[in-house]
Amino acid sequence: MKFVCSACGEQLPEGTFVYQCACGGLLEVVHDFAKVDAEQLKRVFAARLAERMSIYASGVWRYKELIAPEIAESAICTKYEGNTGLYAASEPLQRFGGLRGLWFKAQSENPSGSFKDNGMTVAVSHGRSLGYNKFACTSTGNTSASLAMYAAFAGDTSCVFVPDKDISLNKVLQTLSYGSKVIRFAGTYDDGILFLEKHAEALGLYVCNSINPLRIEGQKSIVYEIAQSFNWQLPDWIVLPGGALSNATALGKGLRDLKTLGFIERLPRVAVVQAEGASPFHRMMAEGAETLTPERAPYTRASALNIGNPPSWRKARRVLEETGGVTLSVSDAEILDAKAVIDRSGIGCEPASAAALAGLRKLVRDGDADRDETAVCILTGHLLKDTDALREYHLDGKWPDAAHRNALQTSSLTREDVGAHLRGFA
Ligand SMILES: *Cc1c(COP(=O)(O)O)cnc(C)c1O
Ligand SMILES: [Zn+2]
Repeated sequence: MKFVCSACGEQLPEGTFVYQCACGGLLEVVHDFAKVDAEQLKRVFAARLAERMSIYASGVWRYKELIAPEIAESAICTKYEGNTGLYAASEPLQRFGGLRGLWFKAQSENPSGSFKDNGMTVAVSHGRSLGYNKFACTSTGNTSASLAMYAAFAGDTSCVFVPDKDISLNKVLQTLSYGSKVIRFAGTYDDGILFLEKHAEALGLYVCNSINPLRIEGQKSIVYEIAQSFNWQLPDWIVLPGGALSNATALGKGLRDLKTLGFIERLPRVAVVQAEGASPFHRMMAEGAETLTPERAPYTRASALNIGNPPSWRKARRVLEETGGVTLSVSDAEILDAKAVIDRSGIGCEPASAAALAGLRKLVRDGDADRDETAVCILTGHLLKDTDALREYHLDGKWPDAAHRNALQTSSLTREDVGAHLRGFA
C-alpha cells in the first residue's frame, strides 16, 4: 500500500502517513495488484459468502485483497458491515424512476445505518494498525455516528466536531450514545475540516473524514458487492447522491480496479446527484468551469448533502470523465417526493439518499437515460436517521404538495368508525 498525491503525483515515504501532500493535494492509496488473478479472486470472494464470524464475513473485508491487504487481522475492527440488500424496484418505483430495470442498493442497512460504515471500518482499522487509539472527524452526522460506533466497539475513544445548525438530532444522539465526545461549533462543515487539518496531529488524533484515503478504499466495496451480486456484470447506470463526493470518488476507483484487473468488461455510467441548495460540483460541471467555486451558505433539507466545498471534486470529475458520467441537481421537494415513494415501497431511506432516485427520474425525463437501460440507485442512509423530516412530511403538513403524506388517523374505536377508516384501504 503506497500513498500517492492525487494532485502532484508525489509518493509519501514508506511507513509514514499524513492526510495531505505538502502541495495541498489529497492522497490516494495505490496498490500493487501485479499478483492479482481476477478469476481466482472471484472464487475466493464467492467462498467467503459462507463465512459467519471471521473478518471475511464482512461485506468490506471480504474484498481485503483489493482494499487493504497489508492491515493485520489483529488491528481490524469490523461489525460485518456491508452485506446489504440489493432490491429490484417494485412497480411504483419503476414508474416513478421511469425505467423497469431498476435496483436499489440499501447501504442504509449498515450497522450504524449509513454507507459511512463501509469506509470507517477500514479507516479505524488502519489507525489502530498505526497505534492510534483516539479518532476524530468533522461531520454533518453520519460520519460521526459511524466513527463513534467503531471507536466504541474497538474500546477506543473518539471526538467529533459538528456544526451547530442544519444537522439531524437523531445522528447527534446516536453519536452521543456510542460515547463519543461531541464538540459543537458555530460554523460550517468546511470550517471543521480546516480545523482538523491544522490541529489533529498536535492533538494525537487520527482523522477519519473523507479526506482520509482509507475511507475511500473501504467504500469501494459498495460497487464490488453490487458487481458480485450481478455476477460481475454491472447495469448501464449507477446513480448516487453527492455531498463531499467521497462516495462518487470511491465508486469510480472501485470501477477502475474491476475494469483494470479484468473482473468486469464494461463500465457503467455514473450519475452524481446534488441538492439544488448545495450543488457546487454540478454547477462546475454544467458550466464547464476549470475549478470548483465553493458555496458559502449551502442549504438543503437533505442535511447529509449540505456541503459547499466538497474536497474530492477533482477525483469525482475524473470518475465522470472515465465513465461518461453526468451530474444533476434536484430540488428538496423532488427529493422528499422520491423519498416518500422509496419509504412507501418498504425499503426506506433518509432524505439525502432519495436524491439518487429523484435524479434518475430527471435523467429519464430529459432523455439522457433511456427507458430500456438498467440502473442501480445507491441508498446511502436509513429511514430513521432523520425523524424530523418524517414528522414534517407526514404530521406537520410542512410540505403542501406531499403526495404520499400518510397522516395519523384518530378513532373512537367503534366498529362503524374503524370500518369507515378502512373503507378504500386495499
Ligand atoms: C455522507 C452522505 C452522503 C454524501 O456522500 P459524500 O461521499 O459526502 O458525497 C449522502 N447521503 C448520506 C446519507 C450520507 O451520510
Ligand atoms: Zn502533492
